Amino acid sequence: RAKDAGKNTYQFFDAEMNTQTFERLLLENGMRQALERGEFELHYQPQLNAASREMSGVEVLIRWRHPQLGLIQPLRFIPLAEETGLIKPIGDWVLQEACRQLKAWEQAGLYVPRVAVNLSARQFEQSTLVDNVARALQTTGLEAGRLELEITESMIMQNPVETVHQLGELKALGVWLSIDDFGTGYSSLSHLKRFPLDTLKIDRSFVDGLPDDEDSVAIAEAILAMSRKLKFSVVAEGVENAAQADFLELKGCTLLQGYHFGKPVPATEFPALAAQLSQSARLAIMADWQGG
Ligand code: C2E
Ligand code: MG
Ligand code: MG
Ligand code: MG
Repeated sequence: RAKDAGKNTYQFFDAEMNTQTFERLLLENGMRQALERGEFELHYQPQLNAASREMSGVEVLIRWRHPQLGLIQPLRFIPLAEETGLIKPIGDWVLQEACRQLKAWEQAGLYVPRVAVNLSARQFEQSTLVDNVARALQTTGLEAGRLELEITESMIMQNPVETVHQLGELKALGVWLSIDDFGTGYSSLSHLKRFPLDTLKIDRSFVDGLPDDEDSVAIAEAILAMSRKLKFSVVAEGVENAAQADFLELKGCTLLQGYHFGKPVPATEFPALAAQLSQSARLAIMADWQGG
């Protein structure tokens, strides 16, 4: 019996491994054609000015509409895209498409001030990264000051000399540079000041516990106080309720992003979300007048 049970466990494990290997193969093979088949799509999540609660921009988040597996979230395929190097053409497409969409909305009467695009470490291996960013701006006509590029601390630390060189060239184009998931890496704020960065995004693991958890409060306050002195603007990620938003506003956070204001939505649904947000902002201003 014991032997049978052991055997079953082994077979179960084996079947599990096969499923994972199978999925990996399915994703890896599919990804090669996914770009030309138009299976990737971008979803847009609003960022709001903390003080006025007006929409100041969007972050674009990629999804893959797989013909068999349905909508796949980035954490399931971006790591694989990085391993295979496919992140390079995918990343270039994201840049182009995000810039194009902002201009298309503008022509349709919806002005979204800025778009933030996530970059991957492997895109910095391309000597063409700066050219690709410049080309996305040039072909779409998007003003450089309306594009923000998000990188992580670990991307800088992996190859600081080469990365700082490319960041300098990107900065010279006029784009904004931000550090994503700030606080989860090992870099200090003073170290980051040596790089040409504009914005820090406080990781949502520190926003989660606000405003009650003492440690979260201490960390958030420390990041905000230091950022003010070092002249970084700060975006809080993962704002899920009004209490978090009000706390962050009170402590001087620049921008807020999270499900409380809007989940990432496909381009077709974004104008309705933007309209709803601008309505809420107007109502909030009126409430302030009446209250004050
Ligand atoms: P990220 O850049 O830190 O993006 C924020 C993630 O938090 C997104 O997950 C977003 O949907 C989620 N989020 C936003 N607000 C809330 C909230 O209030 N609560 C919670 N629980 N989650 C919230 P998503 O879309 O699954 O993206 C995951 C990660 O995948 C991103 O993290 C980014 O690192 C990566 N990624 C997404 N799109 C791209 C892309 O185009 N290129 C590259 N290289 N990476 C991307
Ligand atoms: Mg991001
Ligand atoms: Mg983040
Ligand atoms: Mg993240």
